[in-house]
Amino acid sequence: MNLFEMAKIPLNRAQELLGVSDIAASYLQQPERVLEVSIPVLMESGKVQLFRGYRSQHCTALGPAKGGIRFHPSVTVDEVKTLSFWMTFKCAVMDLPLGGGKGGVTCDPTQLTNKELERLARGYIAKIAPIIGEDRDIPAPDVNTNPKIMGWMMDEYSKWNGFLCPGVLTGKPKTIGGSAGRGSATGRGVSFTVREALKKMNIKPADATVAVQGFGNVGSFSAKLIHDLGCRVVALSDVNGAIYNSQGLNPYDVEKFVKENKTLVGYPGSQPISNAELLELPVTVLVPAALEMQITAENADRVKARLIAEGANGPLSADADNILDAKGVMVIPDILANAGGVTVSYFEWVQNRYRYYWGEKEVNSKLEEKMVAAFNEIFDLAQKYHCTLRVAAYICALERLVMGMELRGWLS
Ligand code: NAD
Repeated sequence: MNLFEMAKIPLNRAQELLGVSDIAASYLQQPERVLEVSIPVLMESGKVQLFRGYRSQHCTALGPAKGGIRFHPSVTVDEVKTLSFWMTFKCAVMDLPLGGGKGGVTCDPTQLTNKELERLARGYIAKIAPIIGEDRDIPAPDVNTNPKIMGWMMDEYSKWNGFLCPGVLTGKPKTIGGSAGRGSATGRGVSFTVREALKKMNIKPADATVAVQGFGNVGSFSAKLIHDLGCRVVALSDVNGAIYNSQGLNPYDVEKFVKENKTLVGYPGSQPISNAELLELPVTVLVPAALEMQITAENADRVKARLIAEGANGPLSADADNILDAKGVMVIPDILANAGGVTVSYFEWVQNRYRYYWGEKEVNSKLEEKMVAAFNEIFDLAQKYHCTLRVAAYICALERLVMGMELRGWLS
């Protein structure tokens, strides 16, 4: 089964539970539009190299497409389609007036000079410019793209139009239209959902132990903000390995160590463990915030956490979901747990359109309001339909999407 087919499993279950019509369901089975482009880049060697890029717009029933741009050797059209599918549901779960989009270029950015990277970024945007725009499709950063690259891309699109267009992309540097609070938004959203789930489970933060896989943007902010809730973070990891201390680790101190040493392995007072061991620790909360497919049928049985918050996209396989559900583990699905990033991207887009910018406190409090509302709505739907939070999140999104299609006359 390819990634796209696997991603559709909870949607299919939600469609059965809601009794969605065949025509509404079929709108969601494939993206509305997928563009494939060739991008010529003049390399430092003086030769031109052709790169392959994609942009997928999955569903725009509720608004313009929204989603990141990934630069990675493993980017394929199938991956981009799947990621755009998840964005449709993530935006709908958060009740944002946006649809699902995603883009990518098959490349290894570690092999490119700064100039080559800039030419690739500008070349990609020039090629997809006819289908993007602040009312059509608003890209953002994803794996290996960042605010600096968003700045180049926004500039290229603006040149194409002849005027400054900050609202065409989000995740920009603050001086040129980025939002306060965007850097911490995804991890902050994860921490809000963990806090709400612990309340439902009648567990006090002080009694909860936590392991976080990945210490990048999502993992480090999740760890720091969950620590701030009063939980005891006992294990952290990065690509080089994991660290453990049963008495608790201070993620702020670990971050300082990482800045100096480029890895958290070797952090004083911690015991080295493997990433596989981290996933199987007897903790209250596990936050996989690194890669896809980390918990599968192979290791799900050995996972001892009572609550899993998916910081990464797709860290659990469909088989793992079933095994964990049977064990009574609560899983906060990616389309809810890590939706803080797209929510603040939405705030950035709104601020760009108004040319009026909010302070970080205001952004964080608006994010909290939206995350808590979404969590509670999905929790209630899971009780009503006797299903997992993942299926409930798809039910919540699907109700909004079908209503949007109905009201726009797509179904009759
Ligand atoms: P990042 O590159 O900043 O961090 C990734 C972290 O994972 C790094 O610490 C890296 O060392 C670690 N890592 C890599 N391979 C690992 C392995 N095998 N075992 C353990 N750790 C490993 O990326 P990020 O922005 O934090 O994104 C992480 C995940 O969250 C991705 O799935 C991404 O799609 C998803 N996500 C990110 C955002 C966002 O706003 N950044 C929003 C939604 C979802």
